[in-house]
Amino acid sequence: MNNRLFCVIPCYNEQEVLPETSKRLKAKLSSLMERGLISKDSRVLLVNDGSKDSTWEIIDKLHKSDELFQGIKLSKNMGHQNALLAGLMVAKDVCDMAISMDSDLQDDINAIDEMIQKYHEGADIVYGVRSKRETDTFFKRATAEGYYNVMNSLGAGTVYNHADYRLMSRRALEALSEFREVNLFLRGIVPMIGFKTEKVYYERAERFAGTSKYPLKKMLSFAVEGITSLSTKPIKMITGLGFFIFFVSIAVLIYSLVRHFTGHTIPGWTTTVLSVWAIGGLIMISLGVIGEYVGKIYLETKGRPRFIIEEYIADSKDEETYRNSK
Ligand code: UDP
Ligand code: MG
Repeated sequence: MNNRLFCVIPCYNEQEVLPETSKRLKAKLSSLMERGLISKDSRVLLVNDGSKDSTWEIIDKLHKSDELFQGIKLSKNMGHQNALLAGLMVAKDVCDMAISMDSDLQDDINAIDEMIQKYHEGADIVYGVRSKRETDTFFKRATAEGYYNVMNSLGAGTVYNHADYRLMSRRALEALSEFREVNLFLRGIVPMIGFKTEKVYYERAERFAGTSKYPLKKMLSFAVEGITSLSTKPIKMITGLGFFIFFVSIAVLIYSLVRHFTGHTIPGWTTTVLSVWAIGGLIMISLGVIGEYVGKIYLETKGRPRFIIEEYIADSKDEETYRNSK
């Protein structure tokens, strides 16, 4: 057993797409099995992230009718990243490689072939990278690309145009399990693992059905999460800003003293009011940024579980491995 693939798929209210996704994945995995690229006991692991619709019933039915499908039921909605991690951490004890992907068929499943090929050539991590984002709205594309640029200039090395579609070998998954942070941003953590990495390019399609589970508000908080859990540069920038303003204030002091002693003092209402607002604003921003980090420290020190699995439905051997690993 050294080619056992697990496709890990987080699902949140995905009843519209699951029947199609499962059909396509079955076809894909069957063809890979026939060609001997993955072992016959490879599996699709669907992680139900506290869906409110019939997603879990569908997963349960899939599992009962076909042993290819396994399911994890989280105790409640924990978010995409946590759901993905839950799936990967269960898979890590029973697979040789795992591919994570979205359930909505936006990630082209035909890229799997190339990912597996790279795995056979010795890669431990293979990133799926979007070659084009034509099907995304202009707004989504612009914000996403701007965000990658900001991230990288802050020193948080993420892979450009890579989301969470990737292959990881078992030892990469084991390394990932050593990262204990509660503030999860997988696409920033995975590049820190190292090992031999490769990229595979694919075109991102439109969501097959249903609606995006990432509204703007969630996307923004995900972006802040990414930056503050990977980089401390914003804090350093604030310190720099503080020093800068301090030096400016010395200059202003000297200037006003000179004006005072040469008898040119004017009642400077405008500058006073403006600077009160400007400095006040800067202080608020700075406190906010520092608050983000303090909040993170707070959560990390609590060390709460990152996901809680209510149920794992799988082949009895895998279930046993899972129970023993707990
Ligand atoms: N998802 C999840 N939990 C959540 C939100 C999303 O498991 O709280 C899953 C969702 O089912 C999908 C993937 O994460 O498989 C990506 O979500 P979506 O396609 O809605 O995001 P987008 O592609 O619009 O960024
Ligand atoms: Mg999507």
